[in-house]
Amino acid sequence: MTYDLIVVGGGPAGLAAAHSAWQKGLKHILIVERDKELGGILNQCIHNGFGLHRFKEELTGPEYAGRFIEMLKSTEVQVMLDTMVLEINKDHQVHVISAEKGYQVLEAKSIVLAMGCRERTRGAIGIPGDRPAGVFTAGSAQR
Ligand SMILES: Cc1cc2nc3c(=O)[nH]c(=O)nc-3n(C[C@H](O)[C@H](O)[C@H](O)COP(=O)(O)OP(=O)(O)OC[C@H]3O[C@@H](n4cnc5c(N)ncnc54)[C@H](O)[C@@H]3O)c2cc1C
Repeated sequence: MTYDLIVVGGGPAGLAAAHSAWQKGLKHILIVERDKELGGILNQCIHNGFGLHRFKEELTGPEYAGRFIEMLKSTEVQVMLDTMVLEINKDHQVHVISAEKGYQVLEAKSIVLAMGCRERTRGAIGIPGDRPAGVFTAGSAQR
């Protein structure tokens, strides 16, 4: 089957893109998320302050993600969790891998990239030396 849309990444951007595409009339939509749950970085953001614009109330990151996940339940948007996108080629083929289903090649008429960004480690930004014990990136500490 060729999907109308494959969204790579199930963080807030990917969830909103998939929901919006469904509202605009696309039918065969798939979100591919490498993590075991949807929400992306929101799942680390346990403080409140989210949702003021979108839902007119203060929510934590996981609560905000939960609202979108609930909204998706009323659609036929499909989700593949624990699945990593390895490659996308010019023919709109999306190569994915998961422990459960192995290597698959998916086809899509259109693709949205919503993979967010990652905090770089000290090695990646070229700071020499060792990391003092107990010092984590903000993301690791919040997790
Ligand atoms: C520590 C920290 C604190 C933050 N605090 C706040 C805050 O207080 N308020 C605020 O407004 N914002 C905050 N942010 C920023 C906010 O979390 C981000 O702006 C937001 O999460 C970005 O959403 P996104 O969907 O673009 O990316 P992400 O949330 O990063 O989601 C991207 C998703 O794509 C998935 N993915 C990536 N590559 C692949 C692949 N190859 N295959 C499959 N899946 C893939 C990832 O697993 C992830 O789930 C914080 C960010 C961090 C790191």
